Amino acid sequence: MNQHRITKAIRSQVERTNEMEHSSPLFLTSSFCFENAEDMRAAFADETDDNIYSRFSNPSVQEFVNRVCIMEGAEAGFATASGMSAVFASFMALLKQGDHLLACNAIFGSTHTVITKYLPKYGIEHTYFKADKPEEWESLIRPTTRMIYVETPTNPGLDILDLSALSALAKKHNLILNVDNCFATPVSQQPILLGADLVVHSATKWLDGQGRVLGGVVVGRKDLIKDIYLFCRSTGPAMSPFNAWVLSKSMETLEVRMERHASNALYLAEALSNHPKLNWIKYPFLSSHPQHAIAKKQMRDGGGIVCFELSGGLEAGRTFLNSLQMLSLTANLGDTRSIVSHPASTTHAKLTEEERQTVGITPGLIRISVGLENKDDILNDILQALNRL
Ligand SMILES: *Cc1c(COP(=O)(O)O)cnc(C)c1O
Repeated sequence: MNQHRITKAIRSQVERTNEMEHSSPLFLTSSFCFENAEDMRAAFADETDDNIYSRFSNPSVQEFVNRVCIMEGAEAGFATASGMSAVFASFMALLKQGDHLLACNAIFGSTHTVITKYLPKYGIEHTYFKADKPEEWESLIRPTTRMIYVETPTNPGLDILDLSALSALAKKHNLILNVDNCFATPVSQQPILLGADLVVHSATKWLDGQGRVLGGVVVGRKDLIKDIYLFCRSTGPAMSPFNAWVLSKSMETLEVRMERHASNALYLAEALSNHPKLNWIKYPFLSSHPQHAIAKKQMRDGGGIVCFELSGGLEAGRTFLNSLQMLSLTANLGDTRSIVSHPASTTHAKLTEEERQTVGITPGLIRISVGLENKDDILNDILQALNRL
């Protein structure tokens, strides 16, 4: 019986103990026992895939990884303590001194810091390209370029990059295409099926979707994951088995949650279109989105993030945040509860004014992570706050 990937992910389970529990057990242990010296020797010699130590592998962590692999259509994966450790491991394991990384400039703030501030310390160079200038991308590739790194939709500007075009470019020049699929989630978009070599996630966001735990995961080509695994096994950014157990359960509800997040987000985006207090509103599945056609081609839904620009700039941003009665002011996204954020003063505050300008983060930019509350309650809170401007 050829089951749907969602069914497979929900029903996949690494182990069932003698208790025959239905929900997956939690393997909260730092190490694993061996019957005898020979079994232990064989495990250390990589002749078996027995668990040795939870920095290397753990059944609860493996179950979460397996579920992400099924959802993404990936061969293999490794889970890490946070999204940033997944991003960092994918760079450190696969790039070396003298290599060049080509990255879109519209990326998560900490990823930008890693590429700009830390990779150069190890002799890894980079060039940023603009999301909306695909005609320039190929000319930025150098003989030493080894990886292309992108997010789509981008954070927080919601630009859409054409994954099939990027994959063709990567294949032509023999580069690794590494995609942060945090915003879309595999429910909406499967970059590996479009030709990406690796997918990284902050599992902290939609994958958990309930604001409880930090986590990260990188999935993709087996040979690349092997290198990432060996790097992580020695350097230690392992995911906690407890977090993995929480996240594995979250994967069972990911599709149903994302469908509601996306339908609430589309409702909000349509209702706020042409609002007099906004310069513009952006959502991938609004026909006014500049890359709407690409979004429709590679995404099943528009995701749970909506952003807009207040015409009143910084002062309007402050008043808007202070006028909201229900939406949470918190440094996260991808939760059951709707969240508002002001990137210029928070996630992207470490960028220079000029860097913020080039990635489109203006003083009045507001990002809404649309939750699972009733859609009119979310809309009404935003409308009453806009009315005070
Ligand atoms: C939050 C986020 C990250 C970093 O994940 P953490 O779990 O916070 O370390 C990376 N990429 C994107 C797009 C994010 O939103």
